Amino acid sequence: MAKFSFNNKMGEEVVRELRTDVLVVGAGPAGGMAALELASKGVRVLLVDRYPFPREKTCGDGLLEDSLKILTEAGLGAAVRERAHSIGCIRFCAPNGSECVVEGDICTLRRSELDAIIVEHACRRGGQFHDGIQITGPLLRGGSLGGAVGVDHEGRKVRIAAKLVLLATGSNPRLLSAFGVLESKGPSAIGIRGYFRLRDTIDENTMIVSYDPQLLPGYGWIFPLGAGIFNVGCGIHLDGRQRVPRFGSNLTRFYQHVQPMSKLLRRAERISPMRAATMRTGFRGAQACAPGLLVLGEALGLTFPFIGEGISNALESGRLASSVAIAALGSGNLSSTGLRRYERELRQILQRRHQGYLAAQRWFRLKPFANMLIEKAARSQSVRGVARQILTGETDAAEVFSLRGIARVFLLR
Ligand SMILES: Cc1cc2nc3c(=O)[nH]c(=O)nc-3n(C[C@H](O)[C@H](O)[C@H](O)COP(=O)(O)OP(=O)(O)OC[C@H]3O[C@@H](n4cnc5c(N)ncnc54)[C@H](O)[C@@H]3O)c2cc1C
Repeated sequence: MAKFSFNNKMGEEVVRELRTDVLVVGAGPAGGMAALELASKGVRVLLVDRYPFPREKTCGDGLLEDSLKILTEAGLGAAVRERAHSIGCIRFCAPNGSECVVEGDICTLRRSELDAIIVEHACRRGGQFHDGIQITGPLLRGGSLGGAVGVDHEGRKVRIAAKLVLLATGSNPRLLSAFGVLESKGPSAIGIRGYFRLRDTIDENTMIVSYDPQLLPGYGWIFPLGAGIFNVGCGIHLDGRQRVPRFGSNLTRFYQHVQPMSKLLRRAERISPMRAATMRTGFRGAQACAPGLLVLGEALGLTFPFIGEGISNALESGRLASSVAIAALGSGNLSSTGLRRYERELRQILQRRHQGYLAAQRWFRLKPFANMLIEKAARSQSVRGVARQILTGETDAAEVFSLRGIARVFLLR
């Protein structure tokens, strides 16, 4: 029996019964976008999240151009930009202290706000949202998947019947395992972030990315949120033989030990606890589909290696999952063959970018490489142009970070 369940006066267990066509589990960008697109097309969709909304999510709060493009295409551009802070460039700091500045159309918006905007619009378009429901496992009907079971915030057992389940539960592998689609449990990276107020200003139009030698191939960041508030964090890769750096006794104080953060934050006031979260990267670690089931966003390992950007891919997978779901519901074929198109098309869109960032992650283990590339970019506008195109997805990152591609970059003027 679930820990929180209770009995009514008759001594029977209280169970909440819900019914829908598509159940979306997890209201981050992946689940929120899937629900929004399904609701827009008139599909009966129920979105659930374990936490009451709005809820915090440990993140850098950065929206790169690819995220903004998808949000705009979904009709959320104005709502997001109205609340977000606009940023015009990223300053990349090399291990040896040299720097280059790459321009871009970037925003920051706290995840509590971004995710709530997407959910609110999904509801406006006819989707249903229940927060405070934690899904614990599949609902089986005659041996086939027929929805999911869980527990609500009052401790009542919840049973949700659905034709199709979309799992968008982020980096926690527990539900992937319960639904039988987990391939690898371990996270590939961890990220830590906190919010700071700066008494004396640093430029609020610039994101700072620091490849401090202690973090390579990970990095530290300072992302302005406007009004003197900054999201400060770092990402640490756990793939391969990577060693987690030890900053004194406490990893959450990393910013006191890495440059230029330590200098820039000397007079800053930390206004939140530092929080850590795991990441699943590299488009691996889970099956994308099973009969009656699709896996979305970070649950599917869609967060990019090396840069840790995952919101755009979560949105992309939500959008694609909704179109595959609509076709499968229409044809009545919810078997793996009816859903397989989802993984095929997602790999067409994202596989090369994942490969490119995996290659970049290998290159950036080499401190001299990071120094030389950033020094080269500081001198060459063409190299800065390539960097921007990698971030927007307009150029083939796997090609750029191949041996031949790197040689070409260093030959650019
Ligand atoms: C420190 C850090 C910084 C980052 N910075 C950036 C950045 O600046 N830009 C960027 O693009 N990406 C960033 N990322 C990556 C980004 O946060 C993720 O890629 C993104 O959140 C993935 O979205 P998602 O919808 O797949 O999952 P999530 O956003 O994690 O959403 C999953 C949702 O599922 C819910 N859930 C989980 N289990 C259950 C359950 N059993 N029942 C019901 N609900 C459940 C959770 O409560 C949550 O709301 C960062 C990550 C970290 C850790």
